Amino acid sequence: MTRLSSQAFGLPRLRSFHNWIMEAGLCTRPGADPAQWSPEKEPGRNAERQRQRYERAAADLCGGCRAISSCRLLAEAEEGQLLLEHGYPPHGIRGGEAPWARLERLNASITAGDMEEEEAA
Ligand code: SF4
Repeated sequence: MTRLSSQAFGLPRLRSFHNWIMEAGLCTRPGADPAQWSPEKEPGRNAERQRQRYERAAADLCGGCRAISSCRLLAEAEEGQLLLEHGYPPHGIRGGEAPWARLERLNASITAGDMEEEEAA
């Protein structure tokens, strides 16, 4: 069975990431507009300039967020599970990153996990 490294985190650890994001995340502070982190429409694969703007916006929105490390780990765990179990790709900005950057890392992580399993078999 394919596994991601983040799946090694237990529920209490994932909950602590979530709690820290709720406490310290820039996107969870009062007055923050969730739509900024989760735009309705994301640029297509070939819209290079729009993708670059999106990536700059992601870095700006999350720049200086004290919860960024927890956010990236929680995103990998949650999005990895959605991808593996349902085929849903990441959406929106998390951890200062665009969804396609996280998808690339998840796919690499899944491939690496598969190779480890094959070697162990
Ligand atoms: S890194 Fe970005 S998405 Fe994650 S908690 Fe901070 S502001 Fe929110």
